[in-house]
Amino acid sequence: MGLLELLLPLRCAACGEPGSELCERCRERLPRLCGSLCERCGAPTSWPVARCLECAGRRIAFASARSALLYTGAVPRVIGAWKERGLRRLAAELAELVAEVVPPPQVRALTCVPAQHERALSRGFHPAQALALELARVWELPFEPLLRRIGSPRRQRGLALSERSRNVAGAFAARPGASPPSRVCLIDDVYTSGATSSVCAGALRRAGCRRVEVVALARAVRER
Ligand SMILES: [Zn+2]
Ligand SMILES: [Zn+2]
Repeated sequence: MGLLELLLPLRCAACGEPGSELCERCRERLPRLCGSLCERCGAPTSWPVARCLECAGRRIAFASARSALLYTGAVPRVIGAWKERGLRRLAAELAELVAEVVPPPQVRALTCVPAQHERALSRGFHPAQALALELARVWELPFEPLLRRIGSPRRQRGLALSERSRNVAGAFAARPGASPPSRVCLIDDVYTSGATSSVCAGALRRAGCRRVEVVALARAVRER
């Protein structure tokens, strides 16, 4: 836990009310991603489908993706505060939320999208890993750091879908000596285009993994 976090009084990351890192009222109101989904990429759909407009025709290296929240309402504020302030205590709360919405993945281990080196070092906090460690506890699965970054892509924010795929292609590889189990769940904080998850899943599969399921805290939903 960061020193600052110990010194500061607990405040709700959404409304600022003192007392807890996420107050009951705000927690209740966070928009859950439930209802019918695309079986493959987890996009919300009007009825259950095997593929949706967003993922049909795309080559995706993971078998499925699920997210607990929609990246809207107070969710960007909560995730922003969590990441920027390195609120480790909030990771446990958010993991509980994920486990309430997303069924446990049918895998042998959890791993996470690796941190971008300089950014992780400057903050000493890696949100996707913090979430993965908490989910490993909740789901009683081992956490294995299986991936690393190679090269340093630009930030994905602000890039078009096609650019996102190109930007992250080849940016991740299995750690030297890592031997992933046959089924792995990849944890990320925000699922946007799925490009990063797909490249990570591809790296895991090249290292011998047969099936990758993706679980993210929140999912950005595109306007159509
Ligand atoms: Zn609140
Ligand atoms: Zn889809």
